[in-house]
Amino acid sequence: MIITIDGPAGSGKSTVARLLASRLRLRFLDTGAMYRAVALAVLRAGVDETDVPGVTTVARSACIEFHDHLLLLNGDDVTDAIRTPAVTAVSSVIAALPEVRARLVELQKEIGRQGSLVTEGRDQGTVVFPQAEYKFYLTASTETRARRRQRDLQDQGESMELPEVRAQLARRDHRDQNREHAPLRPADDAVLVDTSDLTIQQVVDSLVARISPKPARECHKAPPGQSKS
Ligand code: C5P
Repeated sequence: MIITIDGPAGSGKSTVARLLASRLRLRFLDTGAMYRAVALAVLRAGVDETDVPGVTTVARSACIEFHDHLLLLNGDDVTDAIRTPAVTAVSSVIAALPEVRARLVELQKEIGRQGSLVTEGRDQGTVVFPQAEYKFYLTASTETRARRRQRDLQDQGESMELPEVRAQLARRDHRDQNREHAPLRPADDAVLVDTSDLTIQQVVDSLVARISPKPARECHKAPPGQSKS
């Protein structure tokens, strides 16, 4: 079973997808982390994010692997290093390149072929797993998303004023929604969930309620050989 959760930054999809996966005992795939890993590889190689052949070469040669809760880039643990503001900014630039997307989409499909999973990103329901059994698209107001992003940054020891967080979020949304290849948008058959006024637990519960198998309907037909009196 494949469950896709797409949506913009700060919609709560990462936390929700992780909790949902653990509740349903399924694997969890954070595809944003893969784009971030390529962005970090580009930064480490000293390649300019606008140098398309340079970025493509780095993306093709980067070895990206998940080991339990760790993300490895060319064998190095980069789980924390991919969360810096510099990596965040570069990730949405390199994510617009079809060569980068082709490489990562192939890796994601390969992970999907290995069995059931909850996967989150921007194009999971539209491009990577159009056949997914369940598709969700999470949204939230810009204000809510900016506050969540600011809190995430604080947790990582970074402080940023709200107007700057809001501006960065708007730039990233604009790039993600308006790029030519696999722009951020809900799949036609995705369930839309506005998380602005919901707790994480409420969002997870509402997704679980849609996924849980429905109780078998009562069979009113009498078994063969038995007639109703
Ligand atoms: O979700 P996260 O903020 O970690 O993603 C970082 C960036 O990676 C996004 O802004 C987006 O540009 C890109 N991305 C993407 N497709 C995905 C996941 C992430 O383009 N499936």
